[in-house]
Amino acid sequence: MFEERLLQLERQQLVRRLRVFNSEPGPLVTTEGRQVILMASNNYLGLATHPALKQAAIAATEKFGVGSGAARLVSGTLPPHEELESALARFKGTEAALVFSSGYLANIGLIPALIGSGGLILADRLCHASLIDGCRLSGAEFRVYRHRDVAHLQRLLSHRSSRRQTLIVTDGVFSMDGDVAPLPELLDLADRFDAWLLVDDAHGTGVMGANGRGTLEHFGIEERLPFHMGTLGKAIGTSGAYVAGPASLIRYLLNTARSFIYTTAPPPATAAASVAALDLLRTEPDRRARLWENRHHLHAGLMGLGYKTTDSQSPILPVLIGDPKKAVAMASRLMELGVYAPAIRPPTVPKETSRIRITVTSDHTQQQLNSVLAALKTTGHELALI
Ligand SMILES: *Cc1c(COP(=O)(O)O)cnc(C)c1O
Repeated sequence: MFEERLLQLERQQLVRRLRVFNSEPGPLVTTEGRQVILMASNNYLGLATHPALKQAAIAATEKFGVGSGAARLVSGTLPPHEELESALARFKGTEAALVFSSGYLANIGLIPALIGSGGLILADRLCHASLIDGCRLSGAEFRVYRHRDVAHLQRLLSHRSSRRQTLIVTDGVFSMDGDVAPLPELLDLADRFDAWLLVDDAHGTGVMGANGRGTLEHFGIEERLPFHMGTLGKAIGTSGAYVAGPASLIRYLLNTARSFIYTTAPPPATAAASVAALDLLRTEPDRRARLWENRHHLHAGLMGLGYKTTDSQSPILPVLIGDPKKAVAMASRLMELGVYAPAIRPPTVPKETSRIRITVTSDHTQQQLNSVLAALKTTGHELALI
């Protein structure tokens, strides 16, 4: 029965499989016996392999053990968790912060804690799947507005009954397109229509803004937004997620967010490494500078080759292909040429927008990026894409 269902996926070129990477996450990795340039990691600042993070993780493991042994509210809260939450609140300039085991868990806990049946959620059509799942779980009425379309959102807001509790949901940086939500305009609408705005800054944290505080810093609107969430598994280089906001919200969430309450606390090593990473955002700003230099170099190269991309304003640089078969062919040809950049297909992205999703990090060398561009030129000609 499952074979049958798998065959169906196979016919649509939609079967995925796991690939093992037998090395640190980039920029050079070994997979299936070959060394390739990794263009698929969200480890934007190279922090996942930073000696300071490894040291912090080892020290916390020596002191507190490998597992935290229980949920946070039972006996799983250890000093590294408290330190991380204070460090996050300082970093974000909020009263408090709450750490979840992953971004997925944060979103499916946070949204139902904010709003329930009777409420209305309006979400960007390209929101991350974890936000969509959180919206569905909440029991609120859930509608999508066209991607980054402020006028569409305004129409939806003006048609609802004004007494209805309303939550607007968006990514800060969109994970598959690399473009940025029009946050100042969304915030204006939220204020005008008395709605809340939830920003998921998974890909903005550590990357966007002069100090890496994220997409809110990028737009200069940190003071205007009382709370938001972000993750630790991308630029921060560890894993987990946070909600930063007023102390009352944080206390409310730790009493009501089911994905916080009913799950084992993150390992102390992960929390301690995250604290070290937040320090490095401040003490090693050159990492962010190199990331943006690399991003501009690769973006200019893609444009020069004549590739179609999105309105990306981040280190996520999608090469738009359209047909999933062609995207898969391109990814496997790139692999032969020593570049790993995966084909992203539906349901992760809308139909007809299959793509090669390229991400660049601070640790890529110019020489590596030039090899990537050369491989993209070869494959693009072979597949008649450019
Ligand atoms: C990656 C991502 C998540 C999920 O975070 P995890 O910590 O990997 O579970 C949530 N939202 C967005 C926008 C993401 O890109």
